[in-house]
Amino acid sequence: MEAKRAGHDGPNEKWLALVSVVERLSAAEDLQAIIGIVRDAARRVSGADGVTFVLRDGDQCHYVEENAIGPLWKGRRFPLTACISGWCMLNREPAVIPDIYVDPRIPHDAYRPTFVKSLIMAPVRPEAPLGAIGSYWATEREFTPGDLALVEGLARATTAAVDAVMARMQTRRNEARLRLALDAGRLGAWELDLSTLALDASPRCREILGWPADAALDQTDLLRAIHPDDLQRSQRLFNEARAGRAPFQVEVRTAAEGAGVRWIELRGAAIRDAEDRVARIAGVVSDVTEARRARDRIDELQASLRHASRLSELGRMSAAIAHELGQPLTAAGNYLTAAALQARRPETSPDDILDLTGRAKAQVERAGQILRRIRGVATRDETEPRLEDMGALLDEALELARLDPRHRETDLRIEAPDDAPATVRIDRTQILQVALNLIRNALEAVESRTERRVEITVSASAKEVVVRISDTGPGLAPEVREKLFEPFTTTKAEGLGIGLSISRGIMEAHGGRIWTEEGDGGVFCFSLPKAAAT
Ligand code: ADP
Repeated sequence: MEAKRAGHDGPNEKWLALVSVVERLSAAEDLQAIIGIVRDAARRVSGADGVTFVLRDGDQCHYVEENAIGPLWKGRRFPLTACISGWCMLNREPAVIPDIYVDPRIPHDAYRPTFVKSLIMAPVRPEAPLGAIGSYWATEREFTPGDLALVEGLARATTAAVDAVMARMQTRRNEARLRLALDAGRLGAWELDLSTLALDASPRCREILGWPADAALDQTDLLRAIHPDDLQRSQRLFNEARAGRAPFQVEVRTAAEGAGVRWIELRGAAIRDAEDRVARIAGVVSDVTEARRARDRIDELQASLRHASRLSELGRMSAAIAHELGQPLTAAGNYLTAAALQARRPETSPDDILDLTGRAKAQVERAGQILRRIRGVATRDETEPRLEDMGALLDEALELARLDPRHRETDLRIEAPDDAPATVRIDRTQILQVALNLIRNALEAVESRTERRVEITVSASAKEVVVRISDTGPGLAPEVREKLFEPFTTTKAEGLGIGLSISRGIMEAHGGRIWTEEGDGGVFCFSLPKAAAT
């Protein structure tokens, strides 16, 4: 019935049928739906006695669907080179065949069992063909340009529908990938529309920021979620992003009260519209409270380790320290005893007593100075980075190192050029620790040598300050060379083997480096970025 009506429809009916197909195709959700629409409507559009929908499958044509007065080839596959739909796809153009039995492109054997005498075949998506639509008639026909235009129109509408479906599928795939990535990173997603200020937030984003699952949100909710103390900083970055300058990334506290405060990381970037205006800010949020706690804990542990290592340095020097402190204190005691004796003598003048107590005072001050230096190393507190002169810091390290009487015979010298300022921004206690560690290692290395010399040089280039400590010791033992900066590497009976590994951590935290160089003895160097002297 349908076939008969199609055959009698006038040209206008056919064009109206095409328009209706175009409408239906534009709403198709998938390829299957497209094929179904074409199968049902193509005969009305072309006025044909049968239609097929052919899909390209590698180097074969797959006749996936048909609607005809008699059976065609549904479900069968033919090589692209052995059928007319293949010819269309390979040549990317339609084939118009008024009499199939005089056209050499037609595999006549395949057509003989069918009713087909003439046909028009048009490729779907000619620029990269994925199939073809065939219209067949039971009689030989002289086709008009109108006939061809209708079949081609149908193929083009199908092409547009296939492209739209593929684009939608691609979008869905991208969305699925994005969801997967967001879930894997435990990230919440949000998007702020800058014209309405409405805020769209994913369930995870709402969970992190404590927003109800279904509440309508806007920009103020985002700002209210941030701790007041962190708001200004976030807002500055947010405005930068809003102006389209740079994506922002900020770690802030949430505005929740008391123990409910969490640390979150907010990232966002501007999204531009077709006119290149910033229309939205899209971003992600993650709860970084645990990571932050772990980081703080690691920082604390590292500070404790550095402190323990400094105490161990002092422990190694304790005999020397006791000796150094004992000397001035004994001397002070002697001066005070003498002063007491003198005081009992009638001929003693007040100046004599003052002279003796003054000497005692000088000795006590010397002991106090030594103690202050030691306290500077033993302290647990590590300070905010400050501008320091490397030469002055090394002088202090040398003074401490010289306390040890075992190293009295060692020629310990420092060379720091006066003309090139060696100013660095450092945590003084930590860098003192590095210098002391390297100097002490060098002094220990030369202890049993006949020639005992430790040389320290400071040099400053435009970018960095380099300190080089070389000694006349035996150089690095082969067994420690490879893992020198790893913890617990030591060749010494009383060594902990943590000094160099801690020194490396300190240097890296300062944006500097520590390394060894080849030389006659041991050569250790470290460098720090140079700071502009103020
Ligand atoms: P420790 O001094 O407690 O062993 P360090 O980490 O400071 O720990 O040094 C690790 C090892 O590196 C030392 O045991 C020593 O073998 C080697 N080393 C360090 N400095 C020198 C040096 N100047 N000359 C030769 N070997 C050195």
